[in-house]
Amino acid sequence: MGIIVQKFGGTSVGTVERIKAVAEKVKKTKKEGHDVVVVLSAMSGDTNRLITLAKEFNEKPSLREMDVLLTTGEQKTIALLCIALHSLGLDAISMTGDQVRLKTDSTHSKARIIEVESANITKQLKIGKVVVIAGFQGRCENNNITTLGRGGSDTSAVAIAATLKAIECQIFTDVDGIYTTDPRVEPNARRLDFITFEEMLVMASLGTKVLQLRSVEFAGKYNVPLRVLSSFKDGEGTLISYEKKEYGMESPIISGIAFNRNEARFTIAGVPDKPLIASKILYPIGNANIDVDMIVQNTVGNKQTDFTFTVHREDYDETHILLEKVKADLGADSISANSEITKVSIVGVGMKNHPGVAQTMFKALGREGINIHQISTSEIKISVLVDAKYMELAVRTLHKAFDLEKEPFEEK
Ligand code: ADP
Ligand code: ASP
Ligand code: MG
Repeated sequence: MGIIVQKFGGTSVGTVERIKAVAEKVKKTKKEGHDVVVVLSAMSGDTNRLITLAKEFNEKPSLREMDVLLTTGEQKTIALLCIALHSLGLDAISMTGDQVRLKTDSTHSKARIIEVESANITKQLKIGKVVVIAGFQGRCENNNITTLGRGGSDTSAVAIAATLKAIECQIFTDVDGIYTTDPRVEPNARRLDFITFEEMLVMASLGTKVLQLRSVEFAGKYNVPLRVLSSFKDGEGTLISYEKKEYGMESPIISGIAFNRNEARFTIAGVPDKPLIASKILYPIGNANIDVDMIVQNTVGNKQTDFTFTVHREDYDETHILLEKVKADLGADSISANSEITKVSIVGVGMKNHPGVAQTMFKALGREGINIHQISTSEIKISVLVDAKYMELAVRTLHKAFDLEKEPFEEK
């Protein structure tokens, strides 16, 4: 027996009935003899409602005040769950990120965790209490409340599990595990019993939102056994781990398909082809805290080059303005921009030794008349940019082309 951290997402605590069901689940784990630490999200829709409310006053509200506002969502659910647990006869105590002393840097709205103190939690566990902690929040060195970015409760849970050396961090959500792709887009998606950290990290970085990227980074770094499970039905879920499942001689070539709907693409054409040019184009964008994703520079003689990159769609307007200035400074020819673009990626450690994978992907998309605007690859993924209207079709086409609905190496 040991400590188990159980995190419940927004839909899992979205109604009175669901909070009662969570309380029963926690009780069951406690009765099995474990020390239980629960990490909660706000009720589903609450965080969005608070954002809309703030925007009634100001389209660009102060990020410090937004953090104070948004953390109230999680503060509600931890108290409600404790009240529910008390009714079941369990001793439980709620704690905010501040009470736990979850320390972060001071980047409001996307703060990074620096340290979690274990003492306040273990003190309560020792006297038999279930500790219910507000996810998504911490406190920075300036004594301000911070939040960890959307979906940040996953990261709170993993960081707390790492600090407490929990035997498992269980992420309960509205699906019963990690699927080959989002089951909302491809109903034939298959649940994976197991996925490697390496693959999960790449899936999350390419847009698979079932786990916040940083939670997977933390789990990998601190070797926290991580499992994604359904809040609504029993089952083993998906284990994310370093161990490789044995499939006989080989691993499956592709484990999953990720997509990111919210891309925007810019090309600045006719910039001088000389040292420092990439840095001069991207410096103002990085300086504005805008993440740049796929970058392609293409030079075809002539002392000039075209430079293309993608950003998150919500940074489209700001990037456009910054790039106009870069164009004037560098004497570039033109800017072209597309905000109706999505990135679709295939991911799998097995593709390292299979050179034909890219060909299968491009052929399958081409046959459906889906034009590829940009390609980027790494050892274990191939990403393509396609028009947003083709996203669903591209995901389903690739799912079929790589036979993902079938168990690998079963009789086909
Ligand atoms: P929570 O509120 O519990 O944190 P999220 O909405 O953040 O839940 O994550 C769960 C959702 O992730 C699912 O409803 C599903 O639509 C989506 N999802 C996207 N890709 C995948 C995938 N590969 N496997 C499982 N779920 C996925
Ligand atoms: N409530 C926050 C959000 O909606 C954090 C979380 O649910 O993980 O993003
Ligand atoms: Mg989530």
